Amino acid sequence: MSRKAVASAEIAKLLEQQRADYRARLPEQLTQLQKLADDLALGKRRQAILEELHQRLHKLAGAGGTFGLNTLSSRVQSLEQQVKDWLSDPVDTVDAAIWRSFASNLAQLRELMAESGHQAIAILPDATEEADEQAVRVWLVEDDPLVGRELAQQLESFNYEVCYFQCLSDAEQAAHTNCPDILIMDVMFEQAGENATKVLHRYPALKDIGRPLLFISSSDDFQSRVRASRLGAEGYFLKPLDVPRLINRLAEISEKRKQPPQRVLIVDDDTVLAEHYRLILLSGGMEVEVLQQPEQIIDRLEAFRPELVLMDLYMPEYRGQDLAGVIRQYENWAGLPIVFLSAETDLNVQIQAVGTGADDFLTKPISGTHLLAAVRVRIARARQLSAQISRDSLTGLLKHAAIKEMVDIEAARSQRIGKPVTVAMLDIDHFKTVNDTYGHAVGDLVISSVAMLLRQRLRRSDIIGRYGGEEFAVILPECSAEDACRLLEDIRLRFSTVHFNHEGREFSCTLSAGLASSRELPNHGGAELLVAADEALYSAKRGGRDQVQVA
Ligand code: GH3
Ligand code: MG
Ligand code: MG
Repeated sequence: MSRKAVASAEIAKLLEQQRADYRARLPEQLTQLQKLADDLALGKRRQAILEELHQRLHKLAGAGGTFGLNTLSSRVQSLEQQVKDWLSDPVDTVDAAIWRSFASNLAQLRELMAESGHQAIAILPDATEEADEQAVRVWLVEDDPLVGRELAQQLESFNYEVCYFQCLSDAEQAAHTNCPDILIMDVMFEQAGENATKVLHRYPALKDIGRPLLFISSSDDFQSRVRASRLGAEGYFLKPLDVPRLINRLAEISEKRKQPPQRVLIVDDDTVLAEHYRLILLSGGMEVEVLQQPEQIIDRLEAFRPELVLMDLYMPEYRGQDLAGVIRQYENWAGLPIVFLSAETDLNVQIQAVGTGADDFLTKPISGTHLLAAVRVRIARARQLSAQISRDSLTGLLKHAAIKEMVDIEAARSQRIGKPVTVAMLDIDHFKTVNDTYGHAVGDLVISSVAMLLRQRLRRSDIIGRYGGEEFAVILPECSAEDACRLLEDIRLRFSTVHFNHEGREFSCTLSAGLASSRELPNHGGAELLVAADEALYSAKRGGRDQVQVA
């Protein structure tokens, strides 16, 4: 099943269709149940029939509610309980009249088939791939053209798309028809005698754009800061601007927007339900895959790298607990959130199931909204945790060990799918001099601005790590050496145009990079690609720095 994003209108239609299909098949399902109940009353192979009845009722209880048949679902649940009791007690002791009453209860389910209980699900606006890759649009409103143009140019070198306005009314005009992702505004407009924090209400369209909003100001005026805070500003920067710090904040803001979609693997033998959950999660902008052959679980984890597994508890050959146990045997997957999703209502069974290594238990039927919220919050928490462990605190990039692990994973993946992966190593030139001249704190800022630039310039699927002090490693999946070289050349150039400012002294830096691509170096594993890229980096250093070399 494809995990490709489907447009939201399409998802709504598919969900509706699925519901209709399910209801259309229901009479046949009830007929089969009825037949089993009749056989039961006739005293045929009781144990086998009870087992089959149990399985079917269990499925129906879970799925019925999912497709809006809530009364039917809860009625089925009590029938299921009854069958369960019979299964655990010797069945011969049961009076024949009870079998008949069971059969007639089952027959009554038909009357509940028309219930139109609706499933509320929130369909989000489409997060198209295109929008994800687009540059972040920044509007800059600043009356001093020298400051404005300079800042615009700096932002552009970090790949922001900047629209510059010299006065509030020009920006107001533009705000009628357009809107940026981030708004940066000067506080004092000298000629007009306006203080933006005071007069923004006179520019309603601009004010409506509202957030995220950053102010830049030449005076540290407490009242303006308070007004800025009331306007919901996410930053207040003093001039002369510390551009890397401003960029840092912009990156934090746009990062929030650019979080990659959450990835969920569904393991469920019930194809209809699995498809239903898939659609629900897709509607929340997630990437979803469905696994129907439990034997392939580990391969699938390696290939898809889900951030959460949604697992059915009862499947024909294996129980959810068995699979959770297998997953936990692999060190790589020890922290992967596993959530059981089952019609099992017995709390003891739930607790026991969770005890085998799952993180939580959700009961079917579950509303789409509830499922989405439950999955989303768990993945967000898991991301936060793993970021704390595997990310570098200065740059937010992957740490040494994590990026090395990713190189191995991506090299293996590239061999599997037969597409090249390119690995790059970057190092800031003469960085020691920066530290020695301007101090360690300024050095840190230079390091974090390389990180920002990489984040801004690379695709979402690229992986960036801080390999060492002022050394970075970048993995570019499905990217040839030529494309990677062009990209890194651009990054190199942009970085050289960034001006750093320290106590009135302006300076800039350069960087060198080395590349190694799996196409030119077949049979190279991740570690070997890294070594090759490192060698290319050193030949760039020897060649005079401020350049990119290919292994
Ligand atoms: P080259 O052009 O050959 O790369 O010269 P370089 O001076 O950049 O390289 P070298 O490896 O000699 O110096 C790197 C310096 O980076 C040494 C170390 O003190 C400094 N450094 C390492 N980590 C950090 C950090 O987190 N912050 C700061 N400010 N400096 C760091
Ligand atoms: Mg260096
Ligand atoms: Mg170095």
